[in-house]
Amino acid sequence: MDHDIKEPDIPEILKSVGLRVTPQRDAILRHIIDRKGHMSADQIYRFMQGSLPNLSVSTVYNTLKSLSDAGLIREIKFGDGASLFDANREPHHHMVCTVCKELFDFYLLATPDLTQIAQQVHFHIEEYHIQVKGICDACQRRMIDVK
Ligand SMILES: [Zn+2]
Ligand SMILES: [Zn+2]
Repeated sequence: MDHDIKEPDIPEILKSVGLRVTPQRDAILRHIIDRKGHMSADQIYRFMQGSLPNLSVSTVYNTLKSLSDAGLIREIKFGDGASLFDANREPHHHMVCTVCKELFDFYLLATPDLTQIAQQVHFHIEEYHIQVKGICDACQRRMIDVK
C-alpha cells in the first residue's frame, strides 16, 4: 500500500485554469493550500517576504486576485477588516473565534432558502455565507487553565 500523501502539483493547477506559472503564484498558492487557507494578504506577505525576492504587498494582492478570479481560492470578505483567502472551494461556512481570530469551516446539509426574504425587499443575492462568532475549543481550555 502506498501511504504517501500526494503533493498538489501547483504548476499543473495553475495551467489547468489558464494562468501563467510565476514564482509568486506558485509560492502563494502552495502556501494557502498547505496551511488550508484563511489568511490575509498581509499575513501572506509577511510570511513570504524572506523567501521571494522583490516581493511587494501589491504583488501579493495582484497574485491573490488572479488566483481567486480563476477560482483556485475563495476570497472571504468581512464587513470590516481585511479579506481572508481560503483554499477550501467547497461551499461552506465559518465559525470565527473572537479570541484567537481563527476560522473553522463547517458545512450545512441544507442551506436556508433566502429567495422569499430577498424578494420582499427586491434584493438580488449574489452569494452569502454564514459566519458564527464564538470561542474555539483551544481558547476555552486556555481560559479554564488561567483561572
Ligand atoms: Zn480561539
Ligand atoms: Zn473556509
